[in-house]
Amino acid sequence: MDTLQIELKSISKRFGDTQAVNNITLKVKKGSILSVVGPSGCGKTTLLRLIAGFENPDQGELLIGGTPIWDQVNNVPVQKRNTGMIFQDGALFPHLDVQQNIGFAINKDEGENSVNSLIELVGLKEKKTRMPHELSGGEQQRVALARSLATNPSTLLLDEPFSNLDIQIRKDIRTEVKDILKSYNMTAIFVTHDQQEAAEMGDQIAIMKDGQIEQIGDPEEVYTNPTTEFTATFFSQANMVNCDIDKKKLKTFISETDLDIDGDLNRNMRVLMYPHQLKIEPSSSSEEKNGIVKKRIFQGNTHGYTVELENKEIIDLIQIERVPIQPGSPVKVTYLPGEFVICFDKGVQKTFKVG
Ligand code: ATP
Repeated sequence: MDTLQIELKSISKRFGDTQAVNNITLKVKKGSILSVVGPSGCGKTTLLRLIAGFENPDQGELLIGGTPIWDQVNNVPVQKRNTGMIFQDGALFPHLDVQQNIGFAINKDEGENSVNSLIELVGLKEKKTRMPHELSGGEQQRVALARSLATNPSTLLLDEPFSNLDIQIRKDIRTEVKDILKSYNMTAIFVTHDQQEAAEMGDQIAIMKDGQIEQIGDPEEVYTNPTTEFTATFFSQANMVNCDIDKKKLKTFISETDLDIDGDLNRNMRVLMYPHQLKIEPSSSSEEKNGIVKKRIFQGNTHGYTVELENKEIIDLIQIERVPIQPGSPVKVTYLPGEFVICFDKGVQKTFKVG
């Protein structure tokens, strides 16, 4: 049976006029990683600080390993919560070398063995006598991870631990860190504002906005079935396009799609179009043309395009490159729907089968 490691029930926290965390309820199973992703200022760090005990909630209940940690009668102090926290900058002790940083929290009787095995685990055997300033950003974060694991926490809270690293190092280190967390069967909450990183690190992903959780679930499920327009645009990076559902047809400025629906509908909604469902071609004839390229971003084997359609809607799409299309060029954009289309009717998600 899956055991719950972290449980938040209706947790809120306000700073003056700012409702940083607003009535959050969530559960994290033992050994599982929850990624929390959301834009700047949505309350991610506050959420972690409440769990760690650096802030007290205004209301709600917080349990770790089934034990009440904070509620109307309990308030377990930070050092007794058995959680480890890793910050953006690693926060290493600058006057201690790698092994001293890692060994700092281990009592002497447990000895060198555990320090050495942690140094080995994070791949810094050859650099164990280096000072923090003699390490790269990625190495510093590995030391921070080993130092947190040294205290044998039941839960790790990671606050944008890779955001100061460059993109290639980030990709490598997140795989390594995930493997290490999994080898420890560690329960972790991983905060980031990077959608890709959140999806790769998390067994579950929580999309946060304005102090609330918009959606929580398996990353693939959230990507393919966003239940709010915010999740669709922020996490799935999809376009939301105006559409008319007219009897059994879904009509947008660039497309007409037959729907398999009972009865006839007649409504204006917004339809979700993923960037990969849109095809772009240069267009020389004015009948074919339906937009103008505003921006092109080189992404290696793909190009990202931003197109302004003739009805002024802006859409983003991805194309595996043949010949790049220059900004300013007239283009024809075509929509290639999958088996289902996801629409939002005044914010309420509706899914239709394509027929
Ligand atoms: P970022 O991604 O930029 O780090 P975040 O999602 O982690 O942002 P928080 O740091 O949790 O967001 O902040 C949430 C809101 O609460 C913000 O509006 C912030 O200004 C406010 N806030 C956070 N801590 C305090 C504090 N100690 N005093 C006053 N306001 C605060």
